[in-house]
Amino acid sequence: MELTEKESRYLKFIYRKQEEEDTKVKTTDIAEYLKVKPATVTEKLQELAKKNLLKYKSYQGVDITKRGLEEAENLLRKHRILETLFVEYLGLDKERACKEALNLDYHVTDQLVNSICKSFEHPDKCPCGRKIFENRNWSNR
Ligand SMILES: [Zn+2]
Ligand SMILES: [Zn+2]
Repeated sequence: MELTEKESRYLKFIYRKQEEEDTKVKTTDIAEYLKVKPATVTEKLQELAKKNLLKYKSYQGVDITKRGLEEAENLLRKHRILETLFVEYLGLDKERACKEALNLDYHVTDQLVNSICKSFEHPDKCPCGRKIFENRNWSNR
């Protein structure tokens, strides 16, 4: 299963809202956040459902599957470790670090993120205070 970068943005957003902020995500929220049309969002959600990352029903919203949770946590792990690097090492402010990390987290390899994580002695929170997930794929990647 290949997740595209665009899809990764949907997944991260939905995960943050539903799992961390405990808010039901509506198509219009996603459309607003990603600055796309609601119809585009619906299409993408259907694709994510086909890849077994979400359960999606029109008018009922979305639920993340176990597979989706794993993917989202892996992406957010990368995101938050990059933020740590940018703030702690480069001295960027939190907002800028988050923005830069959003553009890179999808592309960065597990290996690179693991090295950064190690050099910061495995932080458990990012600079904004959100959880940095454990690496589940340590042995098989
Ligand atoms: Zn961030
Ligand atoms: Zn953060």
